[in-house]
This record gives sequence, C-alpha cells and structure tokens, in this order.
Amino acid sequence: MVAPVDPNDRVVIGITFGNSNSSIAYTVDDKAEVIANEDGDRQIPTVLSYVDGDEYYGAQAKAFLVRNPSNTIAYFRDFLGKDFKSIDPTHCHAAAHPKDVSGHVSFTVKDKPQGEDDEEVELSTVSIDDAATRYLRRLVTSASDYLGKTVTSTVITVPTNFTDKQREALTKAANAAGLEVLQLVSEPVAAVLAYDARKEAVISDKIVVVADLGGTRSDVTVVASRGGMYTILATVHDYDFAGVHLDNALMDHFAKEFIKKHEVDPRSNARSLAKLRLESEATKKALSLGTNAQFSVESLADGFDFSSTINRIRYEMVARKVFEGFNRLVESAVKKAELDVLDVDEVIMCGGTSHTPRVANNLANIFPETTTVLAPATSAVAINPSELQARGAALQASLIQEYEAADIEQSTHAAVTTVKHITNAIGVVTVGADGETFTPVMQAETAVPARRTIHVAAPKNGGDVLIKVVEGGTHIKVTKAEPKPEQNGDDDDSDFDSEEEDEETREKLWKIGSPLAEAAVKGVKAGAASKVEVTINVLGDLSVTITAREVGGKGGVRGTITA
Ligand code: ATP
Ligand code: MG
Repeated sequence: MVAPVDPNDRVVIGITFGNSNSSIAYTVDDKAEVIANEDGDRQIPTVLSYVDGDEYYGAQAKAFLVRNPSNTIAYFRDFLGKDFKSIDPTHCHAAAHPKDVSGHVSFTVKDKPQGEDDEEVELSTVSIDDAATRYLRRLVTSASDYLGKTVTSTVITVPTNFTDKQREALTKAANAAGLEVLQLVSEPVAAVLAYDARKEAVISDKIVVVADLGGTRSDVTVVASRGGMYTILATVHDYDFAGVHLDNALMDHFAKEFIKKHEVDPRSNARSLAKLRLESEATKKALSLGTNAQFSVESLADGFDFSSTINRIRYEMVARKVFEGFNRLVESAVKKAELDVLDVDEVIMCGGTSHTPRVANNLANIFPETTTVLAPATSAVAINPSELQARGAALQASLIQEYEAADIEQSTHAAVTTVKHITNAIGVVTVGADGETFTPVMQAETAVPARRTIHVAAPKNGGDVLIKVVEGGTHIKVTKAEPKPEQNGDDDDSDFDSEEEDEETREKLWKIGSPLAEAAVKGVKAGAASKVEVTINVLGDLSVTITAREVGGKGGVRGTITA
C-alpha cells in the first residue's frame, strides 16, 4: 500500500488501462494532453514481452507476438481480480496462456537472462497482479520521464462492470507500481468529462450515449447529464463485436486471396497467423483515413511474400456483420434505458474502433438529425476517440489532487452511479389559445437534490395567474407522410413516390402527467413583459418545494410536497 501523498507533493496523471491499449495524460493550464511514450505512441499496446531477460512493453512487445508469443503477455486487463474459472482466455490464444495457479490467473514466461552455460532458462510464474504492476510501472516511468518529475498519483479509468474485487486488484497493482490511486472513474464518464471540460462546452441537461468501441469489447452507456451530475441509466457490454472482429474479417479476406495464389492457408500456422493479424489491423486503421489501403507481409507463409490492396467499399462489405452488430448494441442500450433514440441529445464515440467512418456514419443514421454524433467522421469538433478517456482521467486527477486522500474517498465515492434521481420530468402547465402546454422545468433523471427556475409569461391583462406544476412524460408521435397527389405524365419515378409514402416522421411530445401542485400568484401587473418565476426544488428525499412569484414583484407563494 502506498502511503497517502501530501497534496502539495503530488504529481498526477490520468491513466486508461485497456485490454488492447493504454494511455497516459496530464493537464497543463487546465487542458488535458495525452503523453507520447519513448516510442512516440499515445495509444500504447497493453503488452509485455520478455526476451533474454529484457522486458519490452507497448508496440515493441506487441511486435514480439510474431516471434516470441509464449513469452508475451497480452489482453490481460479484464482478468484482474477474477477467478481463473471465470475468465475468457480467447484473445490470449496467440500469446502467453493464462494458467490456473490455485484459482488465480498467472502466466509462465522466461523473464530471466540466458545463463552462461546455455542452460535452459527457468520459467517464472507471473501472476495477473504482477503483470499489471509491471505494465503500469512502465507507463508511469514513461510519464515521469516525459514530465521530468516523478509521478506520484493517478486517476485510472475502469469499465462500468468492473466488480469491487477487480477495482481492488487494480488499485493494489497500481500501488505496487508506486502509485497513489486518487480515484477510479468509470470509462464512459471520463469520456463525457473530456467533452464537458472544453472551454466552449455548454453544460446543459442532456442524455448522452457513450459508445466505447475497443479492441476486444464494446461498452455502450446511457448517461443523463443534469447540471454537471452524471447518472448512468443503462449499460451494455459486448465481447462479440469489437475491433478484433473487424481484423478477423480482413484476415479471412486476405487469407482467401493468398490461398488462391499459393494454395496454402496462412491461418494454419501460428507465426503466419500472427503476421496476418498484425498487418490486417494496420490495413484496417489505414482504411479509416484513406479509401484505399495496402496489405503487405514479407514471407507470410511457406516463404511467399504477399501484397495486396483493398478499398473501403470492399472492406465495408467483408465486415458488414460486425458493423451491424455495433448498431444493434447502441440501439439495445437506448432501449434498456427505456428511452427512444429521439431522447438522445449526443452520442460520444470513443475507443479506437470509433475512428472507423462506416461505424460512425451507421450510428448517425439510427439517430435523428438533431442528435450530435461526436466522431471524426461525423463531426468537425470531435476529440480523438482514442484519447478521450485518458484526458477525462487527467482532468479529474487535476481537479481532486489538492484534496487529502481521505476526503477524496468520502466526497467522490460512487457519486456518479448511485445518486437518487427523479423518474419523471417536472414542469409547468400554462393555458393558452391552443389549450394546455407543458413546459419542462426539470428533466427526467435529474440527480437530486436539484433546483431549477423558469420564467413563464403572464397573461397580457395581468391579474391572478394560476400555475400548475405537474409531472411530465414523453411520448413519440408518429406521423405518416401524406401520399403525394399523382402527377400527370410523370410516372417514371412512381417507385420513389411510393417509398416516400412509407416515410414516417417521429417527434417527441410532452404528455401531462399527475399534478403536483397549483399555486395562484395574485395581482400580477398587466403588460407584455410581465412574468412569473417558478422555482422547483427537489430535495434528497425527493420532496418537492415549489415557489412561484411575480418577477420583480413582492411576495409569492411557496409550498412543499412530501415524497
Ligand atoms: P479493449 O479493452 O476493448 O480490448 P482498449 O480499450 O484497450 O480495448 P482501444 O484503443 O480503445 O483499446 O481500441 C483498440 C481497437 O481500436 C483495436 O482493435 C484497434 O485496431 C482499433 N483502432 C485503433 N485505431 C484505429 C483506427 N484509426 N481505425 C480503426 N480502428 C482503430
Ligand atoms: Mg477501452
């Protein structure tokens, strides 16, 4: 255990520690920057490799998956704090295999130097916790070298389905690497923080979907952001649609081409398979930027070199099933939150796979035009999806670094996920020429305690103004477009017309729910400018206080409804 560091002596960074990649970030002048390690990488592969007693990490270690797989530890983050029985070792197939050491996940690797007399090097057992510590130590060394001072403390991001045991294991592993862990923040919230921290950001009440599409897993989270408080409404975790599945699609594509030419399957031996995988991933990344990409491997199998090209359209065809999977995931998360796509104000795309233009465009298509999809392909102001979480972690670290460790624990414990919130919107009903209208004052899912104020225009003639405060719900109104009248002599495009007839317009409408209170504000001045101010205050026990008064006037009414 690392002793709490004096707040004045802290040097803090944010860390994202993924199964595929990790990143380190720090803040300078309230802006978060992701640090490039000594290899120049900002996305640092979460891989360790041992060659003749030397430890390699990151991109160098990942390259050893071809020549030295059995001494290369990869894709291990999710194993932290888990029993051997409950892990899925699929992705370690072409790397050091996880072993069962009394129920605990371990790896056996040759991490000692070769002796003089050429004896076989002894195998060492490296527990999952040790592997995490060794890797985190490399990240921290890198950050310390970059910053020119020793990093003492950190905020690390974790998936929302990390158990307490996993969080504990991660904290311990970081402590063993000499790091004080100020806080573990959930990955999607870190992504939201990175966007909300921008100078130009307007912190409004909004529903945000965070689509974190990584290498071995995809996590979709629906977050209600209410006055700077974040409530997680639903999460979906998936291990069948992620970056490696896109790699697989390309691997199959190029393997088939290779077989046609040389009658040998590069997937049938481990080393060829590893080469095929690495190059397929590189080609995939190139296709996020360009519409054409090269695939080229020396001595891919049986001594044959292989090079080919692929264009984006072809890629999108061979990987179509995976792309469709991403859409279904996001749709299922929205549904799980009992919301409609029309309720979603913003989609934040993060994780490396979010660079893929087709993935972002497909998602943009399932949401209405009013929903902002923040990804490089769909928005000019998108932040690099691979950097979002590290930036969020760094921002959070710089926010809380001045507090004593004990205070941080108290004030920030689980603040994000378990706060109480109101189920229905609360708003004001006003009566006008078109009947009653509902104006929301406080959105559904607002974390409590909370307070909101609106101004309602008073009737022109003044007098007593009746304010009805009610709960509001929404419903989706579907309108079928009117069939177009036949156009004479122009039947050529009748096919198109019939398609349009099926088109539906869907809009979100407010529904007036159960009444909470009525208040009469007496003797409001006449005049177009006269207004009534309504303040709704919901306390932690969900009791509601409503205050209504004339703007600029004296007095007013006030009432409390118990929960
Ligand atoms: P996980 O924990 O899911 O394994 P991670 O969170 O550690 O993943 P990320 O860096 O978010 O990792 O995602 C890695 C995935 O993103 C890899 O499959 C990688 O190939 C892919 N990726 C990275 N950059 C790009 C890009 N420019 N275009 C397409 N895919 C990319
Ligand atoms: Mg991730």
